[in-house]
Amino acid sequence: MLLHDDLACTTMARSSTSAAEVKWCARCGREIEWRKKWERSWDSVKWCSTSCRQRGITDLDRRLEQSIIDLLKRRSGSATICPSEAARAVQPDGWENFMEDTRCAARRLVVKGLIEIVQKGSVVDPSTAKGPIRLRAC
Ligand SMILES: [Zn+2]
Repeated sequence: MLLHDDLACTTMARSSTSAAEVKWCARCGREIEWRKKWERSWDSVKWCSTSCRQRGITDLDRRLEQSIIDLLKRRSGSATICPSEAARAVQPDGWENFMEDTRCAARRLVVKGLIEIVQKGSVVDPSTAKGPIRLRAC
């Protein structure tokens, strides 16, 4: 009987943890997976990895976000843009080097509820999408 109660408790604790679990990295915008080591500090977790924490958010990152928003504002409602257009607008020379930064900026905007990331016309999960993506206002 006692053993049974213990099990029920554990199950409940686990499910209540998972409810508070969804969190996105402040840099790359990917979903952060809850880890045991964060049990007591989960509320203050901001970054998914050491490299995201070290890079943080720079002026360039803010400009990339703004560039995506500006480009989408200039298109009609459901039109999409390629992330490279936003990267080019911010860094005409060497924009190719900023594609991953631009994808991070796009994911952060998804977290803020400002845009959607689509592939072949369907909204995809930014945390797991692979391959070419397009951005759309929402
Ligand atoms: Zn990250």
